[in-house]
Amino acid sequence: MAYEDQYQQSKYDTLLFDVDDTLYPLSTGFSNECAKNIQEYMVQKLGIQQNKVFQLNQELYKNYGTSMAGLKAIGYDFDNDEYHSFVHGRLPYGKLKPDHVLRNLLLSMPLRKVIFSNADNAHVSKTLRKLGLEDCFERIICFETLNPNDKTSCRFDDKNDVQFGSENFDNPCQSDIGSILPKTPILCKPFEDAFEQAFKLANINPQTTIFFDDSIRNIQKGKQLGLTTVLVGKSNRISGADYVLESIHNIKEALPELWEENDKKSETMKYTGNVAFGTSVTA
Ligand SMILES: [Mg+2]
Repeated sequence: MAYEDQYQQSKYDTLLFDVDDTLYPLSTGFSNECAKNIQEYMVQKLGIQQNKVFQLNQELYKNYGTSMAGLKAIGYDFDNDEYHSFVHGRLPYGKLKPDHVLRNLLLSMPLRKVIFSNADNAHVSKTLRKLGLEDCFERIICFETLNPNDKTSCRFDDKNDVQFGSENFDNPCQSDIGSILPKTPILCKPFEDAFEQAFKLANINPQTTIFFDDSIRNIQKGKQLGLTTVLVGKSNRISGADYVLESIHNIKEALPELWEENDKKSETMKYTGNVAFGTSVTA
């Protein structure tokens, strides 16, 4: 076997991670707590009728990636920070415990690790801190990174006229892809623009990146854009997922080559280092 073949470069250079229900299990209950807080926000702060919030929230999440993106799309105007502190700030963070197993797994893979979350920076930072993972990632791409300006110009003049589900989306910011749904001013997964922006900001080549997320639609979009995909927290194969892990703790069982390739890479680096040294001495 030629030396080049034996010590070829690893196929991957970057690992891209979602946070919620990916770096910690769904059983933590954060997902339900979040939904509850969003529904409370819709009633208390936006004046939406209690008996409508459950279904409306489901529909907005389904159509827009996040409930917040959906609420903005259909015309509600509110402060992003206030929303995030109401929805995420009240979560029972005490339930998250340091995850030494995951920390060791992450630190033992000397590949770039980047966070890609729809959540706000305060939530992502606090979650990583509680899990004991705050120093395991090179970069965090989150709500504020993707939405640096307050882009809320796309909204109805009279929010009380909004009737979700009535197809009465008389919004001046119609999507240009022919959808009847109004376009949201928020950039978030699973939309292509959000992935492209994350790739640009973190200098990510999707062809050499593995993407971990618990959301099937995020995984499917990631696959479409060239990422190698790992669906986390599920047990059934789905189209678009290259790997499926019941827990993020199973990375090594599913992708042992990440460690094996790294061992080979260390050997290559040692060898290359010697050559470079020799060359400079003889020059
Ligand atoms: Mg998630």
